[in-house]
Amino acid sequence: MTAGAEASPPASAGPADDRLVACPECDRLHVRVPLRAGEKARCVRCGTVLQSAPYWRPDQMLALVMAALIAFLLANACPILELRVQGSISSATLLDAVLTLWREDRQLVAVLVFATGLLAPLADLLAMTALLAAVLAGRRPAYFAPLLRLIQQIRPWGMIEVLMLGVLVSLIKLSHLAQVVPGVALWAFIALTVLLAVVLSYDPRCLWELPAGRKGAA
Ligand SMILES: [Zn+2]
Repeated sequence: MTAGAEASPPASAGPADDRLVACPECDRLHVRVPLRAGEKARCVRCGTVLQSAPYWRPDQMLALVMAALIAFLLANACPILELRVQGSISSATLLDAVLTLWREDRQLVAVLVFATGLLAPLADLLAMTALLAAVLAGRRPAYFAPLLRLIQQIRPWGMIEVLMLGVLVSLIKLSHLAQVVPGVALWAFIALTVLLAVVLSYDPRCLWELPAGRKGAA
């Protein structure tokens, strides 16, 4: 459900007035409106989301992020698939696949898989952990703004779900050629895909407004 933010001229309010929010796309000023959980406020001129009230509280989101981190560790520490062909068994983790791509002179693909399947999701989850822990402690430390900017920049590069789709297609195709046994990492990747969908739907910009209401943090 969405709620349009109330349009308003700047009137006598100063530029630093917390009641005002500027549209990041068209610069139109709006007055902040109270939102219920799950609601979004959009710019009346261009429709860009200005404010969003998440379904999840910070402590619930931190629990989801920790669960996603555990799934991430399992997904990368264990084999994704085990192939059995004529008595020989081979298995590989995602990192093994990246190293194999690198050794086979496909460095660009190896770097892309590493960045989109490993680095971006891990950096996103670690940054979210630090931000949520700070909010729950009632603080807004110096790294708060840089981490928020980092999340905004790396989110478009996280493509675990694309990787997951590729693994499932490969699994179906390989099942005609060899006996394919799904590994622990495959189930962990499925859990990670679902958890990441929830984590990525959380707009971390709303965290700016939470510390002020807790323990009077600056
Ligand atoms: Zn706008």
